[in-house]
Amino acid sequence: MNTRSYAALSAGAALVPYEFDRRELGPHDVALDIAYAGICHSDIHQAREEWGPAVFPMVPGHEIAGTVTKIGSSVTKFKVGDLIGVGVFVDSCRTCENCKAGLQQYCLEDMTGTYNGYERDGKTIAMGGYANYFVINEDYAVHIPANLPLDGVAPLLCAGITLYSPIKHWNVGPGKKVAVMGLGGLGHMGVKFAVAMGAEVTVLSHSPAKEADARAMGAHHFVSTKDPKVFAEHQKEFDVILNTISAEIDINEYLSLLKLHGTLVVIGLPGKPYALQVGSLLNGRRSIGGSMIGGIPELQEMLNFCGEHNIVSDVEVIKADYINQAYERTVASDVKYRFVIDAASF
Ligand code: NAP
Ligand code: ZN
Ligand code: ZN
Repeated sequence: MNTRSYAALSAGAALVPYEFDRRELGPHDVALDIAYAGICHSDIHQAREEWGPAVFPMVPGHEIAGTVTKIGSSVTKFKVGDLIGVGVFVDSCRTCENCKAGLQQYCLEDMTGTYNGYERDGKTIAMGGYANYFVINEDYAVHIPANLPLDGVAPLLCAGITLYSPIKHWNVGPGKKVAVMGLGGLGHMGVKFAVAMGAEVTVLSHSPAKEADARAMGAHHFVSTKDPKVFAEHQKEFDVILNTISAEIDINEYLSLLKLHGTLVVIGLPGKPYALQVGSLLNGRRSIGGSMIGGIPELQEMLNFCGEHNIVSDVEVIKADYINQAYERTVASDVKYRFVIDAASF
């Protein structure tokens, strides 16, 4: 099926209009008209090869919300007209212990990414969601609650689940002090979820102008890291720190903010190693952990939670011809708080 999209044709190149054919529907496939596609900082890292060699032409986009237009002969999970979401992967081995546990993002054969890689046939380049049309195996798509605005839902498919999962895993909730590093696409979802779970939430941001927004999202405290003395003032304060920063930083300053047995969860992926002073871990028996998106069952759980609690992303809806400017503004931490492309503009 002919598909209109925007693609990067080589590393670091501006994205341009691009047409290609999506596969015909197999028996377990669902076709969808995309309504909105979010712009994740991971799209930018990959289109610019900041994580190493990438596959081009690249149609980025793994925050996809739309409507089912056609179903394969054996599909049982969806019907035509359903709202449907697609996230960061479109398949996995299905048989390893992690897949069987619903943790497909940690598939032992590696998940099949929505873009920047090959489908499981090993030769078809996977093309992502900056497009008008998508085809997905029903097992790797989720239902979207009907009460939420679809533009604000799209970012939940990556930014949302990526914060929901560690918040659940590290038991962020009542009685816990949690800090969110970076108030961008991921960080602002972290604030909303941590507040909804009942934790005491602090934003650690290098953009002092974001304070009013952070408080409107429910954050109880806002600390501007532009002023280096705040690190001395907030020593040993937090149970959990969720690090969503996309750039290189001094991780040791942030580790010193953890209380006894606290954990700093690395979520942001700048592409360069951190210079870790292990002494920061010894003092206070602290841990550093990592977390990557979430599996299909948890993705559905998160969307249902959002439906029940009326949680969506704060978005700036753009047309496709603004993608390159949106990339520049995202890198400059100038987005409130997720760019979402109106797929009618492809
Ligand atoms: P984003 O919207 O650009 O947000 C990143 C935030 O980091 C910015 O808004 C800014 O917050 C802060 N920041 C940026 N540059 C900084 C600097 N030089 N010093 C200090 N703080 C800085 O990006 P995103 O889409 O949320 O993604 C964040 C990171 O997570 C990216 O590296 C992305 O690849 C990664 N990611 C990981 C997963 C996963 O599964 N683990 C999933 C998706 C994305 P303030 O303005 O508030 O300081
Ligand atoms: Zn993402
Ligand atoms: Zn697997």
